[in-house]
Amino acid sequence: MWTHGWRDRVWSAIDQQWDIIIIGGGITGAGILREAVRAGLKALLVEAQDFAAGTSSRSSKLVHGGFRYLKNAQFYLTRQAVLERERLLKEGRGLINPLAFLMPSYTSDRIPAFVMGAALSLYDLLALNWSHRFYDASDIQAFCPFLSEAGLRGGFRFFDAQTDDARLVFRILREAVQDGGAAINYTKAINILQTGANKVCGVTVMDMAPPLNSHNIAPSQRTLELQAKVVINATGAWGDILRSEIAKPARLRKLRGSHLIIPFDRIPLRRAVSWFHPTDQRPIFALPWEGVTIVGTTDVEHAAPLTEEPVISSVETIYLLSALKDIFPALELSIRDIQSTYAGVRPVINTGKVDPSKESREHVLWNENGLLTVAGGKLTTFRIMAIDALKAVQNAVGQRLKLKYDASVFNSPPVDMFLPEELEPKLRVRLLGRYGCEIQSLATSIKAGELKPISGSQTLISEIRWACHSEGVIHLSDLMLRRTRLGLQLPEGGSRVVNDLRDIVCDELLWSKSRWQHELQTYSDLWKRCYYLAS
Ligand code: FAD
Repeated sequence: MWTHGWRDRVWSAIDQQWDIIIIGGGITGAGILREAVRAGLKALLVEAQDFAAGTSSRSSKLVHGGFRYLKNAQFYLTRQAVLERERLLKEGRGLINPLAFLMPSYTSDRIPAFVMGAALSLYDLLALNWSHRFYDASDIQAFCPFLSEAGLRGGFRFFDAQTDDARLVFRILREAVQDGGAAINYTKAINILQTGANKVCGVTVMDMAPPLNSHNIAPSQRTLELQAKVVINATGAWGDILRSEIAKPARLRKLRGSHLIIPFDRIPLRRAVSWFHPTDQRPIFALPWEGVTIVGTTDVEHAAPLTEEPVISSVETIYLLSALKDIFPALELSIRDIQSTYAGVRPVINTGKVDPSKESREHVLWNENGLLTVAGGKLTTFRIMAIDALKAVQNAVGQRLKLKYDASVFNSPPVDMFLPEELEPKLRVRLLGRYGCEIQSLATSIKAGELKPISGSQTLISEIRWACHSEGVIHLSDLMLRRTRLGLQLPEGGSRVVNDLRDIVCDELLWSKSRWQHELQTYSDLWKRCYYLAS
């Protein structure tokens, strides 16, 4: 699947009548494609950039109920999300893993420990999984020795889960395609087609990828008009742009959330830590993730145009750094410890709240002239959003769809026996979670000497070969930032290892020397501009 020349094959086959065209290849679009195919619909997904290049590769990577949303009394959202967390943990181990959180309690906290305890009890009750516990100060410090001691009264430990967000999108998307759906990246919806009666009936798409075997990276820009009974706008923060095509006023508020990535040896966390920012008491966290520590997040208005990649501002960097210095003073962290950063834009429904963090995170569906916009929500609840969306378009597709909220998320569990025996258990589980039923094909693609991790990461060299051969990589940034996360997990965006990968990448993608040079330069510029510190 998605081997050399696949995009041209898909492009030449998509000019046909579809039941559903889904615009946007983040988790929302991927989830809708997955459920549409299960319901027997003929469905196509188009993504303007790379799959998961939007917010779905820039989240905090938590599969969670959103403990903090309880503060805003969003009980229904939390209940749905914790149940989804439990389901994903059960079915997707290796891709979705449990994560222990410590929440230290200080004498200076505005919210007293007994209130946090009551909220955690509710959180566990909603999940039907009693897992939190209070520890005294010495026990909490034994869990995390470099916590600030000043005023420490003790703290809670509770459990949530974490994932690799982009890989979750790929697993869902690829299972949908294996089961008969169609998906194509670097294909932008540039115009919504309407009948004379102003009913949406399709989209014009433009090819944003370079022609096959091109020596440079300029997009081909060929176009096609595609017809569908239903068009779904799953473009997240970009949602209002397509809605303006059918003359609908903007309804989304774009809020940026940014993260710092710090090497493990500077913040050696075994468990996540959640605390309140000293200046505004917003919740902040530091999470261990694949050998690095992620620190987040902010919640600020995003005024920059969405044609540009979102970038952390220097104000956000200082804000997150000051929270770190407050909770881990002994580590003496400074700006020099920041290895990389990333920023994503939340598409939240604009109700004009002064404090952005008070805007609801629930998802909404707007059916306007036959264009269904699905916006808001969370990575964790993608399946519920997908089923709600398809229920809303049943009449338009002219079928009573079989949609089940309690169906399994993934196709049947992957089988371990295909992986080489010498692979250590932790890496086996990781691969099974990420590649699911494709594990046999991946195992057969492994070449001698490529079963070892790339230095400083858990990514195997064989995953690079597999991604280039079979996972629709168009640009080097797709490989470094989404198929793998080396661009975030290694110093300088992985610049020290990227040249060692050149032969595999060029062999599999049939890139010439000049294409490699274009790709390397473009990736390196992008990383410095958008995944490091604001200039
Ligand atoms: P996106 O992932 O943005 O996908 C939309 C896609 O549409 C993009 O890839 C874009 O390129 C494409 N597109 C746009 N215009 C066009 C066009 N004209 N034609 C074709 N394609 C187009 N949720 C959690 O559950 N857990 C978390 O820990 C968490 N942390 C978060 C942290 C931050 C900072 C943010 C911002 C969000 C977080 N979320 C979290 C929420 C979650 O990440 C989002 O709800 C989710 O990723 C949105 O997915 P999406 O598919 O709707 O949007």
